[in-house]
Amino acid sequence: MFMDEIRIKDLEVFANHGVFPEENELGQKFIVSAILFADTRDAGRYDRLTDSIHYGEVCQIIDQHMKEHTYKLIERVAEALAETLLMKYKPLLKKVSIEIKKPWAPIGLPLENVSVKIERQWHTAYIALGSNMGDKTKYLDDAVLALDALKECEVVKTSSWIATEPYGVTDQDEFLNGCLKLHTLFTPEELLEVLHRIEKKAGRERIVHWGPRTLDLDIIFYDDLVYGTERLCIPHVDMKNREFVLKPLCEIEPYMHHPVTGKTVKEMLEELK
Ligand code: ATP
Ligand code: CA
Ligand code: CA
Repeated sequence: MFMDEIRIKDLEVFANHGVFPEENELGQKFIVSAILFADTRDAGRYDRLTDSIHYGEVCQIIDQHMKEHTYKLIERVAEALAETLLMKYKPLLKKVSIEIKKPWAPIGLPLENVSVKIERQWHTAYIALGSNMGDKTKYLDDAVLALDALKECEVVKTSSWIATEPYGVTDQDEFLNGCLKLHTLFTPEELLEVLHRIEKKAGRERIVHWGPRTLDLDIIFYDDLVYGTERLCIPHVDMKNREFVLKPLCEIEPYMHHPVTGKTVKEMLEELK
């Protein structure tokens, strides 16, 4: 509900990151600041550490990770720390900001420091699944497992799998369709790539558009993002016309709003009927 902030300012870590071999051998000082975005309401009401994120432990994790790894770039240091923390403290930790300062950056000119600051967070995506070839149930079940197995993804809800008539090209076997809710660290483009990889592993071949397929994975929503390129359209452009998407989606999230029309999934499904 709330996005409160737990702030760690200017933690000093001596570590070996850098592009130059001397940096990797001798090491240098890095200064790390982190903002942890979490709902601290329960911690505030009940005064229990288990309801919050232990900032002392976070500092230890940052220190340890930076000493155990040697990266070339502070961009990489920041990314790795963000990912480590988001995975360790899910679901309480929704978002992090990480800033890495390098006061001794070897550029041969006087400066106070150079720094990189990033913000990363867990996103919520809804994926529609479909299959109309072979062992359809297994294709859908395996897709859920494949997604959930990725460290950047966690499947948090799945609908039932429903049998539906083919859409578009109708002279083909009936479909099995479903939807799932996903927490992910991937960007929309990265997520699409991952879905394509899982489809490919399931033997998906693109011969006829809307034709028979072992597995089809489409992104329906990604947070409340509205995004359109040639490769990727979010929300899925045709979702409102598809009972085979809306019905299973309604099972898991009936009151979620379409970010453009403002209609709930339930309303879209009722309008279609
Ligand atoms: P449809 O997209 O109408 O459901 P399809 O799923 O059968 O048709 P595909 O061959 O799987 O068609 O996808 C065609 C292209 O659609 C993909 O390569 C992808 O780049 C693009 N695409 C655009 N928006 C999305 C989205 N939200 N989810 C998945 N793919 C998308
Ligand atoms: Ca599709
Ligand atoms: Ca598709």
